[in-house]
Amino acid sequence: MEIIRKVSSMREISSQILAARRTIGFVPTMGCLHDGHLALVRRMKQLADVVVVSIFVNPSQFGPDEDFGKYPRQLTRDTDLLIAEGVDYVFSPEAEEIYPEGPATTVEVEDLSTRLEGASRPGHFRGVTTVVMKLLQIVRPTLVVLGQKDAQQAVIVRRMIDTLFLGTELLVLPIVRDEDDVALSSRNAFLSSGERRASRAIYRALCDAREAAEAGERDPEAIVGRAREIIEAEDRLRIDYLELVDGNLLRPVTAVEGRMLLVAAVYAGVTRLLDNVEIAT
Ligand code: AMP
Repeated sequence: MEIIRKVSSMREISSQILAARRTIGFVPTMGCLHDGHLALVRRMKQLADVVVVSIFVNPSQFGPDEDFGKYPRQLTRDTDLLIAEGVDYVFSPEAEEIYPEGPATTVEVEDLSTRLEGASRPGHFRGVTTVVMKLLQIVRPTLVVLGQKDAQQAVIVRRMIDTLFLGTELLVLPIVRDEDDVALSSRNAFLSSGERRASRAIYRALCDAREAAEAGERDPEAIVGRAREIIEAEDRLRIDYLELVDGNLLRPVTAVEGRMLLVAAVYAGVTRLLDNVEIAT
């Protein structure tokens, strides 16, 4: 496995792979890898000839008061894990490589970027789409894979790929959970044992609401209300948002029909956790 630090080197390698008519599977990450990331890597190993994983804690998707400085970084452990998975290249550039000095170019998907996560974290998705666009231009993957854990991110990146005619195929894989059903996340490392125990209520609440919908409940507020009650019963949890939205446009649903997402951002202490379930009628 080779670790690539320079944009120019990564571009050169990708050119050679594509010239040899081999496919590139790409897994963008911010590192501190867990089994959720590794599930994406394993799938790419099955689908593509060459697998590239990026590890880049992207400064532009963190707000000024967010945890950019504190975000866990462990490149040596990450690269060991990726060697064991048979990954071909890790692209881990310095921020200066990705964001050269001078006037910046940004990419933004309108409307979708201002909802849910975007309402709580203004500018977050501009940072995400800008860095994903840059990474796609550098790596030029045939196929890119994202996790359903960040459901809104997946919807927004799909929209960017479609509307900018990027031609890269996007695959979104299901959320990987720990044994206690908490969605795997690099930020789980920040949870105290009490917060961790309380966090189990998030997925339990989402499942309870989904079951209500599947059993015939047709009032969106009643569905969300069931989940809210379960989460609010935990002292250590505080809901940032909890919404039942349309699966494509991410707008709050007025009628329970089609493919929907019940999405949650919940603070456990100071740690902000994301989770979601799909609800289909
Ligand atoms: P991150 O390093 O948090 O930016 O995540 C990199 C990719 O891994 C994103 O596409 C995430 O959606 C995905 N991912 C993170 N956690 C999980 C999980 N528990 N299950 C599946 N995918 C995940």
